[in-house]
Amino acid sequence: MPPDRSAIERASPLAVYYTRCMRRQPSNTTPHQSSLKPALKPALTRRDLLRAGLGVAGAGLLAGCGLSAAHSGAPTPTPTSTIVPSPTPDTRPVSVVITGDIMMARAVGARIKSGASDSLFPFADTADVLKSHDLRIGNLECVVSTLGSPQPKTYTFEAPLQAFERLRAAGFQIVSVANNHSGDYGKAAFSDMLAHLPTYGITPVGGGANRTEAHRLVTYQVRTTKIGILAYCEIEPFSFAATATTPGHAWLDATTMKQDIAAARSQVDFLIVFTHWGVEYVLQENAHQQYMARLAVDAGADLVVGAHPHVIEPYEVYHRKPIIYSLGNFVFDEMPGVTSLCNVLSFTVQGSRLLDWKLRGARIVFSTGAPVWNS
Ligand SMILES: [Zn+2]
Repeated sequence: MPPDRSAIERASPLAVYYTRCMRRQPSNTTPHQSSLKPALKPALTRRDLLRAGLGVAGAGLLAGCGLSAAHSGAPTPTPTSTIVPSPTPDTRPVSVVITGDIMMARAVGARIKSGASDSLFPFADTADVLKSHDLRIGNLECVVSTLGSPQPKTYTFEAPLQAFERLRAAGFQIVSVANNHSGDYGKAAFSDMLAHLPTYGITPVGGGANRTEAHRLVTYQVRTTKIGILAYCEIEPFSFAATATTPGHAWLDATTMKQDIAAARSQVDFLIVFTHWGVEYVLQENAHQQYMARLAVDAGADLVVGAHPHVIEPYEVYHRKPIIYSLGNFVFDEMPGVTSLCNVLSFTVQGSRLLDWKLRGARIVFSTGAPVWNS
């Protein structure tokens, strides 16, 4: 929803936000990653490398002896064993980036359709950094389709089909469809979007042909690290949620989320829970968000990240697991003041170990709806 400018200013001037944010930083975690940064263990020690090198040299020596013996007419010795160096697992750390709401309808969609923008719009200024990560995730706060009609709600967002290509160009591999706009043009448009996303190399999370599909864990393996993500929405309308037999998104409720996390936990090294929650234009998480986020961590999530309020909300570290309550917007038209401020989450994992994480600031250019990084 576009903000009520006066409401924003009344609710929380930027200075108040930063004051609150600073107050919430744990005193022993400045910067964010200091208490979460274990020492990196090298994948191979010098001794391992020497062993591997000696193994290859030893095998070469045996082969040379055999060839020489054949030419001399002497009996060829039968090797009793062959030294084959085992392949070295690539355990290098994996970088992940997650953005907040990406809304590619309305003025953003019109600009894409008009051809007035370059082929990377609205990601022209951010794609390079996004693509420098191994895994790129965002919340797709609209439906992308030509089907359907606006549902009876105040704001409905349907982006043109060219939005798929723009998302791919920016490097997104996973988008959450668990939000209050993916169903804006009805179930057929929603299903149409889900069917097309994979053809652009993008996997939807938090939505599907039925409740089971909507709650399905999405995994992405980079080298030896397997990352999992679950996504949920608890913003009305509830009719957008999947049922046992109809398509829709994954509705957030404590019992189901705990079951999903328990089932996912053993399947991946690192588990992300991406939530769509909070109150629009409120710069602070509420008790319910805090309860659900901590519940997710207690159930086994390694990181909880949220979006929807159109503003940045604080983070906390709970049992050594980061909880980022709201990243704010990333692509959105008509977003002035604090609603133009974005946080983009960037982190590095190696297996199950979170090595570091940070929030990178950006702001949305009001005239285009596209983000640029803060300098
Ligand atoms: Zn939303």
